Amino acid sequence: MANTAKGTVYYKEEAYQKINEYLRENNHSKVFILVDSNTHELCLPAFLPKIETETAIEIIEIEAGEPFKNLDTCMGVWQAMSDLEGDRKSLMINLGGGVVTDLGGFVASTFKRGINYINVPTTLLSMVDASVGGKTGVDLGNLKNQIGVISNAEMVIVDSDYLATLPSEEMRSGLAEILKHGLIADEAYWHKVGQLSELTLSDLDDIIRVSVDIKAEVVAEDPFENGLRKTLNYGHTLGHAVESYCLTHTEKKTLLHGEAVALGIILATYLSKELKDFPTEKLDDITKRIVELYGKVDFTREDIDAIIDLMKYDKKNEAGKINFVLLKDIGETEIDCQVPNDLIFDAFEFYKNA
Ligand code: NAD
Repeated sequence: MANTAKGTVYYKEEAYQKINEYLRENNHSKVFILVDSNTHELCLPAFLPKIETETAIEIIEIEAGEPFKNLDTCMGVWQAMSDLEGDRKSLMINLGGGVVTDLGGFVASTFKRGINYINVPTTLLSMVDASVGGKTGVDLGNLKNQIGVISNAEMVIVDSDYLATLPSEEMRSGLAEILKHGLIADEAYWHKVGQLSELTLSDLDDIIRVSVDIKAEVVAEDPFENGLRKTLNYGHTLGHAVESYCLTHTEKKTLLHGEAVALGIILATYLSKELKDFPTEKLDDITKRIVELYGKVDFTREDIDAIIDLMKYDKKNEAGKINFVLLKDIGETEIDCQVPNDLIFDAFEFYKNA
């Protein structure tokens, strides 16, 4: 079991016992369940029968996918909660992937100055990463996660059975954050998860717990990201910029969050080799595995210019300086590293030739 500052992560059957206990012990005026169009159809029918409560339940649905993780969608949810007479004793349950847990956590944390919420992640990515640690928020235009608050869920319910309906590309997207956990924290874990070409549900229960523990430990030590928590952004400085760029350049393949992070990991590991003497043979191994899993995307010089420009919106930046997380070795992170632009071009060149 992993403890975060407030939310505890519970698994499988114990998780449903805990949520039912919580519902019994807290006199909620109403329970809102936030779903997207996919989790409404695929996950809600499995979730509802597990919940035992006399309190009225209202379902609120949003459209699925990153393009809807924005303030317009929040407005719709806040309005629905208000129309349905939500009050400060209402509870929000976010049943979905990282978009639902990020947006639902933000909506709950700001509705009537904040109501309690519970995360029930239904994608691999949200189980191992997005639902844990209290970061909530939405995108601003194409810029990722610019608006939000840090506010912990009351608890997080992880039940890998929801993954049975998750498309394989979404499984791969989640694997990228798992690979990141191995690279920043635990070389043996990296070797284990780096070998997995096909994720089977039976591998997953153990892997999810290890990843949640890695993330929860980091968050417990540095909940407001003053230092150590920045390491969880490994691969994300360029990954987010690439994801943002692809969101608005429709001629480019739209990249799922984890696909962009995987690409960002290759670039950050190249930069680590150049600036921190990260071992070359490990860079080659990481690159080979990630390219095998995720394939490659082509970028022109103009694309890379625009991607570098987008990095100025990265949330780790201070006083206009772009701060990278780099690795001296697997499991040995260094935060707040500055990287010259010409090296970033070299990193893309390395990726292109990989
Ligand atoms: P997502 O929520 O868009 O889910 C991906 C797709 O899977 C969606 O179409 C969704 O409807 C569908 N889906 C969800 N559960 C399903 C199921 N069980 N079966 C079938 N389909 C299902 O995206 P995601 O990959 O879960 O999360 C990505 C988001 O998480 C990004 O916005 C990213 O910024 C955020 N994130 C947040 C944190 C954090 O700490 N808060 C960490 C990492 C990522």
